[in-house]
Amino acid sequence: MFPLILKTTRVLATILAVPNAALIAAGLAQSAFDASLNHALSDCSASAYSGFSQNNRNVLREMIRIVERHYGKEIVERLADPLLSGVYGGEASQLSVRAVLPRFADMEAKYGSLGRAMLAQKKVTAKNAGTPTRPIFSSLRDGMSRLVEVLSSRLNPERIRTNIPIKEIQRREYGWLVNTAAGGSSFDAVILATPAPAAAQLIRHSAPAVAQELAEIRYTSSITVGLVYDASVQLPDGFGFLVPRTENKRLLACTFVHNKFPHRAPENRSLLRCFLGGSRDEAALTLSTEEILSIVRRELDEILDLTDAPLAARVYKWPSSMAQYSVGHLDRLERIRHLLQETPRLTLAGNGYRGIGVPDCVRTGREAATQMLGYLGFLTETPASVPAPLV
Ligand SMILES: Cc1cc2nc3c(=O)[nH]c(=O)nc-3n(C[C@H](O)[C@H](O)[C@H](O)COP(=O)(O)OP(=O)(O)OC[C@H]3O[C@@H](n4cnc5c(N)ncnc54)[C@H](O)[C@@H]3O)c2cc1C
Repeated sequence: MFPLILKTTRVLATILAVPNAALIAAGLAQSAFDASLNHALSDCSASAYSGFSQNNRNVLREMIRIVERHYGKEIVERLADPLLSGVYGGEASQLSVRAVLPRFADMEAKYGSLGRAMLAQKKVTAKNAGTPTRPIFSSLRDGMSRLVEVLSSRLNPERIRTNIPIKEIQRREYGWLVNTAAGGSSFDAVILATPAPAAAQLIRHSAPAVAQELAEIRYTSSITVGLVYDASVQLPDGFGFLVPRTENKRLLACTFVHNKFPHRAPENRSLLRCFLGGSRDEAALTLSTEEILSIVRRELDEILDLTDAPLAARVYKWPSSMAQYSVGHLDRLERIRHLLQETPRLTLAGNGYRGIGVPDCVRTGREAATQMLGYLGFLTETPASVPAPLV
């Protein structure tokens, strides 16, 4: 194993390269770079963007440029690009920096250097020790299904309907008619928490202008592959690796789950979770389970020298699951917000708008619910004082 030649020694200290130069991000959470990026990621909707000229404002390419200037081309190729592509399943140069990482650009504008920004941030963090920071991504100890289980256990089952695809919603004088294959039901207010293109379909006749905007929000697909090995299998230390696109692999990333979340694997087992797909490889979705497993096993062999057969393997496909905040996304949200004023008692929530991580989806759901309760008079506040709609 040889270390990668990188310009920033603090980052170098946390990164090892395997023979084929795929990146092993061992203990990445401690690195200077990751700290600043984590802060940027963890607060992506919090700060106003004020860094660049109007021409450059929208493009995440600008962020790539910042990283390159501060840390060098190798860091862009081997860390920033794979990280952003891994997180958003998209093409970094097509994403909107204002929508995805406003804080990152803000930090450079304010401090002139990401290093100085990070040090300043560290002081703030130390001062606020004990106040938890909001992560961009989150999970639950016993799996995400716990969220739905707990929520449904607290609701009256008679008020919940599942597995009933909605065909369309139609405006009525007071509220909305929700149409399913089994007929229509009237509701005072509706929160559309489907992916944006599905929401577009539902309101295509009742709010065509909003529908048109929603249909433009693109999603990419993701595939995850779980592989179980005996704990004696030879793997590098660390939480896993990201694969730079220069390696020409279909694998985007791999998590060593037994290290990252030890409670999720029995003590005598190693559990790998591999990621494929994204905007550069939508075709992966058409592959069979056998083809996907064969690709993953070949590439794990090339990257990790891992030739052992897994004791068990599972492939999960997530079609059109990762919203892409493309250039112009925030302007689109603004237009939607404006248009929705003409369709009261209807709002949106979910990963298509202001954050794809579960914490942001929960936040937007709460905001949407509060807004609708306000309209319906269930809150003491008047609708005007209810939090601004999501979009
Ligand atoms: C592989 C993968 C791993 C991820 N890992 C993490 C992670 O570790 N941490 C994290 O924070 N985030 C993670 N995310 C992101 C996060 O899980 C998603 O962004 C989030 O769950 C999206 O929630 P949502 O409610 O907006 O959309 P969804 O969960 O997609 O829910 C939309 C719902 O709308 C329903 N629907 C669609 N059309 C209709 C219709 N016509 N009628 C009725 N219902 C309809 C669908 O059936 C679906 O249930 C991950 C995403 C992927 C793909």
